[in-house]
Amino acid sequence: AIFAVTLLLAGLLAVRLRAFITEPVNRLARIATDISERSDYSLRAPVGGGEELKTLAVAFNHMLEQVEDRDHRLLGQQEWLEKTVVERTAELAESERRFRQLASATFEGILFHDQGTILDVNEMMGRMYGGSVEELVGRNAFEFLDAGSEPLARERVASDSGEPYEVVLIRKNGERFPAEIRGKSVEFRGKRVRVAALRDITERKKAEALLRESKERAEEANRMKSEFVANMSHEIRTPLNGVIGMANLALATELSPLQRDYAQTISDSAQTLLALVEDILDFSKIEAGKLLFEDTPVDMVDLVWQSIQTVRAAAREKGVALHVRVAPDAPTRVVGDPMRIRQVLINLIGNAVKFTAKGYVLIDLAARREKERSHLTLKVADTGIGIPEGRIDAIFDSFTQVDASTTRLFGGAGLGLSITRTLIRKMGGEVTVESRVGEGSVFTVTLALPLDRSSSSHSSLVSFHGLRALVAEIDTLGRSIFRERLEALGFAAEETDTSGDAVERVARAHTQGRPYDLVILDSAFTDPTPLSEARRIVARSGGATRVVFTGFSDPPFSAEQMADAGGAVFIGRPANPARLRGALEEALAHRLGERKAKSAGERPQSGAWEYPLRCLVAEDVDINRKVALYLLESLGVVADVAHDGREAVEKFLNGEYDVILMDCAMPHMDGYEATEAIRERERAGGLTPVIIIAMTAHVKTGDREKCLAHGMNDYLSKPVTRESVQAALALHFPNRLADKAIAPKKVAAPTDSQTLSLARLRESAMNDPEIIAEIVATARTTLPAQVERLAEALRGEAVPLMERAAHTLKGASRSIGAERLAEVAHLIEKDAREGNADLCRDRLGIVRKELAATLTALADVGTAG
Ligand code: ADP
Repeated sequence: AIFAVTLLLAGLLAVRLRAFITEPVNRLARIATDISERSDYSLRAPVGGGEELKTLAVAFNHMLEQVEDRDHRLLGQQEWLEKTVVERTAELAESERRFRQLASATFEGILFHDQGTILDVNEMMGRMYGGSVEELVGRNAFEFLDAGSEPLARERVASDSGEPYEVVLIRKNGERFPAEIRGKSVEFRGKRVRVAALRDITERKKAEALLRESKERAEEANRMKSEFVANMSHEIRTPLNGVIGMANLALATELSPLQRDYAQTISDSAQTLLALVEDILDFSKIEAGKLLFEDTPVDMVDLVWQSIQTVRAAAREKGVALHVRVAPDAPTRVVGDPMRIRQVLINLIGNAVKFTAKGYVLIDLAARREKERSHLTLKVADTGIGIPEGRIDAIFDSFTQVDASTTRLFGGAGLGLSITRTLIRKMGGEVTVESRVGEGSVFTVTLALPLDRSSSSHSSLVSFHGLRALVAEIDTLGRSIFRERLEALGFAAEETDTSGDAVERVARAHTQGRPYDLVILDSAFTDPTPLSEARRIVARSGGATRVVFTGFSDPPFSAEQMADAGGAVFIGRPANPARLRGALEEALAHRLGERKAKSAGERPQSGAWEYPLRCLVAEDVDINRKVALYLLESLGVVADVAHDGREAVEKFLNGEYDVILMDCAMPHMDGYEATEAIRERERAGGLTPVIIIAMTAHVKTGDREKCLAHGMNDYLSKPVTRESVQAALALHFPNRLADKAIAPKKVAAPTDSQTLSLARLRESAMNDPEIIAEIVATARTTLPAQVERLAEALRGEAVPLMERAAHTLKGASRSIGAERLAEVAHLIEKDAREGNADLCRDRLGIVRKELAATLTALADVGTAG
């Protein structure tokens, strides 16, 4: 029973336990299973049973709530993620589609590659290749490059350059075509690769070639046109030569006033025509690219004065004052092309005078030294009609003038300034203009030229240091310029604008014991007359003060009247430096005493030969021959004639001449050949070379060199004038002049250079006879060796070698004073630098000739020493 009771109790207890513990626990377990199977976190455990079980169920449910909440949140995020992925994928697809569209729409082939391996290409690339896209992907991009282009492409890829470059590509069918590539590094499928855009430039290249060809053809046509114009101009010059020459000769005879007027008109018109022809000739030379420049030592001051001569008369006639101002101590001795610079000056000064009715024209020259160059500033200012603002740029164009009515009034073709600007620019300078209508214009030329180191300064000239001067002039500008010039000469100078004041000052200075040595007196003073004022000045100074008259026009009184009034000299303004100095030296001779130097006359006298020159004129054209003969005759030179080169050589052989004027272009044998033949005979016979002066209508640069190269000593440009012939004769026969004063002092033309300058040689040898002997001995072996080296270089093609050899020869020759040899060497050097090998070779003959002459001269020094 106990057992049974125990069993019963156990059974009851078990039932109770099941109801209170097992059941709720099982329910919890079921719910847990359900949850894990169905993932339904919304289920909850019923809260019942004992206290502990209740707590458990509550805790279980709380946990479920949290799990459910997390589950919700997770779900939300997953949905968002999925949505985003879908969106992004769509966007990507759109972008890829757009890229493909773009890539296939462009005219450029596009290629992605990694170190050459093609990753992707667009359709155009495939088309360019002549195959499909698939054929290209995976292959090496460099395979499609022509061998010549490959290194460049590799280099561009390696340097990651973005600059476009041109290559030759190969199509599938082997055809080659030019292409332009522009490459760039980009991110592609997660990698850094290069994308290259390629463009087929076959058409462009064809167009370029076509363009080049037509441009060349046009240029050629233009050149031919210019050449034609140049030839025509040349042909026109020849008869003009006759017209001008004959008209001038007629003017030199006795004529009735009417006849004189006719002849003068012929001469003037022909001169105008000649100037025009020369402009056109220049213009066509510029067009044809045939403009060459010379390098010769020149003094800008001389060029300014020479240029002024052409307008002096015109300015005087119009009553326009001409002023020249040169900054004191300006480095004006430079190396340049005198003819071209003069041409520029003449154009600017000529225009200034032409377009100015009253007032003045001022030529103002300044320069500053910088390194081995002189930076020149030349201003030509006038008080003329001026140029309207809108037209300023146009006046430098060819055939352009401000307005047609002024053209009728002043003449001209509108070429001058265009040529001027071109010339200046070719020389490395610039010309500008400032102008105001009705007030005037200022043309400014700036130009930097090498300094001429070969010339010495004129230190031997007399100085007027310590002398007092007073400038009495009406014109303010002229007065101050004159004072500056006197100061530059060493005077202590003052100014006054009335003659009365001048007289008073002179009197005062005299009583103070500091008299003026000089009064410059304007001959334009009218009341009282300059003559009477001069008399008063002399009287009031007790004869201590000298008067020099000046004026823009001819002196209004005779030399006797001047002398009578105590004024020694008249200086026409503007006075060129030599003339001014000469006049002052003459006037102040008593004061200069020891310093006194011979006065230099301005104009050479005619017929001033100490004993007659024997001259031969070789010229085929009747009229030109006649002109030359008359010109010579008027210079007191009687001449024989030859009608062509052959006759010239014959006459030379039979006669004895000091000088031959040789036309260059003649039938049978031209002037060059005749000269060579004559030189040949002279060499063979050991004769003293006759002076041969070429007369040529082949104007401008290069011709002189050609003449010299053929053995001529000098050259005259046609039409030859009395002045040019006289100057040439004076240059070559200075000792034959009766009036030594007119012999040119400074000679710029190479004709003054000597075969051997002893002065230079002595200078190099510091005047030591032993050193001289040594130098001579060395030179006699080194010079021929250097000439041989030059000859060898000339046989080859290497222009730099020629240049160097010529340069060496030049240096060596120069240092011992072999001037002529140095000169030819210099020409060869220059030609070589300009790439004219043929010209260089042509000169070898003269080099040898000059070498021979130099060696002879050296031998003489050797024996003399
Ligand atoms: P032209 O042969 O007509 O003088 P240029 O080329 O020398 O040709 O000059 C062109 C034009 O520029 C002239 O016709 C004139 O109208 C103008 N000009 C040149 N210089 C001056 C000046 N100093 N004053 C006024 N106008 C000028």
